[in-house]
Amino acid sequence: MELNDTVHAASDAFSSWSRRSTYDREKIIRQATSFVRSKADVIGMLMAQEQGKPLNQARSEVIGACDTIEYYAAEGPRIEGYVNPTEAVNIRSHVTYQPVGVCGLITPWNYPVSLLSWKLGPALASGCTVVVKPTPVTPLSPLTFCHALAEGGIPPGVINCITHSATGAGAEMGHLLVQHPGINKIAMTGSTETGKAILAACAPDLRRVSLELGGHCPAIVCADADLNNAAKIIAYKGFRNMGQSCSAIARVYAHQSIHDELVERVKSLAEKMTIGDGVSDPTVDLGPMTTLQGLQKVKTHVTDALEKGAHLVYGGKAPEGERYQKGFFYLPTILTNATPDMLTMREETFGPVVPFVRFDELDDAIDQANATPYGLVSYLFARDQSTIMTTSEALNAGTICVNHGSVNTNYGPYEGWGDSGFGVELGRRAIFEYLKIKHTKIQF
Ligand code: NAD
Repeated sequence: MELNDTVHAASDAFSSWSRRSTYDREKIIRQATSFVRSKADVIGMLMAQEQGKPLNQARSEVIGACDTIEYYAAEGPRIEGYVNPTEAVNIRSHVTYQPVGVCGLITPWNYPVSLLSWKLGPALASGCTVVVKPTPVTPLSPLTFCHALAEGGIPPGVINCITHSATGAGAEMGHLLVQHPGINKIAMTGSTETGKAILAACAPDLRRVSLELGGHCPAIVCADADLNNAAKIIAYKGFRNMGQSCSAIARVYAHQSIHDELVERVKSLAEKMTIGDGVSDPTVDLGPMTTLQGLQKVKTHVTDALEKGAHLVYGGKAPEGERYQKGFFYLPTILTNATPDMLTMREETFGPVVPFVRFDELDDAIDQANATPYGLVSYLFARDQSTIMTTSEALNAGTICVNHGSVNTNYGPYEGWGDSGFGVELGRRAIFEYLKIKHTKIQF
């Protein structure tokens, strides 16, 4: 379909979808997600093939996406307006909410279905219709997910998809979508650079925008931390999905008294991680990286760090063996002696690389952790309650994870501060990104 046809289809469907009761929409959405769940194997397989994450993790992503959409379906009937007391007995003041209209949903390749559900869930529940534009890197799993929702009962025209332009460029089609006069709101996840371009493109028409962008997430490990737990979470958040996550742990500041012990424990976990083709063996921990470009960036960052004095503790190359000849494989990589001038300490490496820094004073670690334009997630490992309170308040990020790595839960608002975002996703509050306020004042 051409972009114009897609936007018109969404626009035509908006009048009926937005007028349904929220209870009605909840019922329809739940029927649809229940159908999608039955297709999780198929969609998961497409994701494993196009994105590289092991099949078990891909399948879980599809199920998690259904959970998110259902969370918002239930949230729809809880959108409460309110009545204000007024200045006169013959005046009433009602505040209500209405859906913004047709939303353009632009998504990246690292979690192609999950990140779509964060937008699709609140959009559908609030009565919006959508045009989805997945990235050309991983179009198949999100397109099949949308198709399954429609097959499961979401009415025609409510969910529409558009892929790339004739030249194959996702940016080109994204730009056309963002500027289309029939689009009332854009929700996008991707790089900060693209997010800023989208915000600028939406400005002339004052189009509503929400953006979830890049990150460079620090972890501080205090002297009293549970080191087993900290090591487990650092390995999980540093290496899972090959570090291709906005919330990946990108730098670790470890108290000098536990630094070496912590590095040893993370190394021992990295050594045990299984790597391979997650399509034929769904249970491996790590698959290949998604793109050659991504792999090259990782190599550049590691080389740069080593040239600037970092010490390679583990990894730093592809795993050896016949089975790794094909595919963009790379070992989970641990560096110590990292310094702020290294690329990997400043830019998103977006790969399985965790650099460590020693610290003496906690205030110094906090300053270093905050020394970034990003503000997505900060991790803290400590036992002392007052350290936990004061440090989590001092860290500059929209999400603080203390002693765990479970960053995204449907109930928890996820807002990127600074260069990491604009607006919020997840949590109850996110549905208001898809709603307009109406104040109706009646004199009688
Ligand atoms: P990207 O910015 O290259 O692309 C994201 C999407 O935007 C794609 O669909 C792309 O085709 C489209 N696009 C590109 N240029 C556009 C333009 N000018 N106008 C409109 N659309 C355009 O990002 P990516 O490489 O696909 O994804 C990786 C990035 O996403 C990383 O920076 C990562 O940190 C970020 N990310 C953020 C979150 C979060 O929740 N904060 C989650 C996952 C990924």
